[in-house]
Amino acid sequence: MSSSHAAPARITHLVAGRAWEGTAARTSAVHDPATGEQTGELDLASADLVGEVVAGAHAAWREQWADVSLARRTSVLFRFRELLRRDQEKIAALITAEHGKVLDDAFAEVGRGLEVAELACGIPHLLKGGHTDNASAGVDVFSLRQSLGVVAVISPFNFPAMVPLWFVPLALACGNAVVLKPSEKDPSATLAMAALWTEAGLPDGVLNVVNGDKEAVDALLTHPQVKAVSFVGSTPVARYVYETGTAHGKRVQALGGAKNHMLVLPDADLDLAADAAVNAGFGSAGERCMAVSALVVVEPVADDLVARIAERVGRLRTGDGRRGCDMGPVITREARDRIASYVAAGAEDGATVVVDGREGEYDADGDGFFIAPSLVDHVTTDMSVYTDEIFGPVLAVLRVASFDEGLELINANPYGNGTAVFTHDGGAARRFQREVEVGMVGVNVPVPVPVAYYSFGGWKSSLFGDTHAHGTEGVHFYTRGKVVTQRWPDPSHGGVDLGFPSNT
Ligand code: NAD
Repeated sequence: MSSSHAAPARITHLVAGRAWEGTAARTSAVHDPATGEQTGELDLASADLVGEVVAGAHAAWREQWADVSLARRTSVLFRFRELLRRDQEKIAALITAEHGKVLDDAFAEVGRGLEVAELACGIPHLLKGGHTDNASAGVDVFSLRQSLGVVAVISPFNFPAMVPLWFVPLALACGNAVVLKPSEKDPSATLAMAALWTEAGLPDGVLNVVNGDKEAVDALLTHPQVKAVSFVGSTPVARYVYETGTAHGKRVQALGGAKNHMLVLPDADLDLAADAAVNAGFGSAGERCMAVSALVVVEPVADDLVARIAERVGRLRTGDGRRGCDMGPVITREARDRIASYVAAGAEDGATVVVDGREGEYDADGDGFFIAPSLVDHVTTDMSVYTDEIFGPVLAVLRVASFDEGLELINANPYGNGTAVFTHDGGAARRFQREVEVGMVGVNVPVPVPVAYYSFGGWKSSLFGDTHAHGTEGVHFYTRGKVVTQRWPDPSHGGVDLGFPSNT
């Protein structure tokens, strides 16, 4: 047995650069999903504690960060970027230990987050405003962007490093203080990264981590000193966060769930498409908001493609993410049972279960939360295996007669996070990318996560608010614009004139 059965470690908040020393009234269990063992006992923040942390962050923002020069802010960002590279393996190991994804996937997750930290190092360029000389006689006009104050970041379990990194570096680079609330299921990677900011020279209190559940989230959403909220999670909670936060006068970007479709046209390279479907469907056990969960294939090639995917799925090894397996466990026992119930429902509804993940074998010790990949064919749009976000290793295959039928099916879905088309036909790909109602589109790329200098975000029920994450939209979200119209006294000024200022 690899499990040590040590007593669960206490995991607590990071407030003003230090581990919180209070006693929590409520705690929750953190597990190693590969062994099923409880490894941590997490302090859950009360609303009062969140209020104190926000007030402390506000003071730190005003006194120690808002007026710090761009040169000094940037030097902290560069140091953080180096420390994150130094600790990338360590953070990846923490992700695998609490989330379960395999080690190289966890390492790559940190790498994608690192890209945003690198983008934030260029903040002096990103914050440059416009300047107009002599807009009126002797009058210059210029724009600037200023920080908001305290920003809340609330993140999901599936990317405990990357999702906080989508937001925190840019929010800090823009001059804000941050209160970060990670998922209560896997907080340790997030906490380890937060400690690196202190090491990088960020003043105490400018970044704080509070652990918690709905009570902590509600306290953030209603606190008057929280000016903006960046949320990522499931659609019902995203909608709630958006409605509650905006009702309390905050700007909110709330990224929600997904059902991502991959459309395969008859002229596609079927080996490439099969590889892509397997990678995007079962990577991270399907627990990615950009995972492909619905494969839409145009009929003439459907049997052939399904056979190629089934052959590949049969070769996948599921097990402990530290053992070089292809796929790890899912996050909880309840998630595993829920995922299994969707495969059962698909079979009951008349779909064909080509590969049944409930019958898988696992390379692991203990009682981990495993379910192997499932491939379910002949799915129709009324089946729950299609309508619901399963968030597990289940790939549903829907067969269509034409490109148009496929496009219509995708556009009828309430989610609009990511999608991809596989084809050699440039005209069809162009029509797809123009007409599909989805925020992130791949052409022969199955997981089209934008690079950091573009922005990440879906449409429809996959995002509430109008600002996507990172890129220039992120900078815009974390700052307020101001326009200054300036004249320095000169001999031509003066005189009373009640008319509206004109620029001629
Ligand atoms: P979740 O909605 O359960 O939790 C997300 C966050 O909200 C956590 O910090 C959690 O503590 C908090 N929370 C949970 N219930 C709450 C409630 N009732 N009130 C207030 N706060 C609450 O999501 P999850 O299970 O951690 O993550 C998986 C979901 O996130 C999936 O739906 C996935 O598609 C989505 N996701 C979306 C994106 C995206 O970019 N669109 C990225 C990653 C994950």
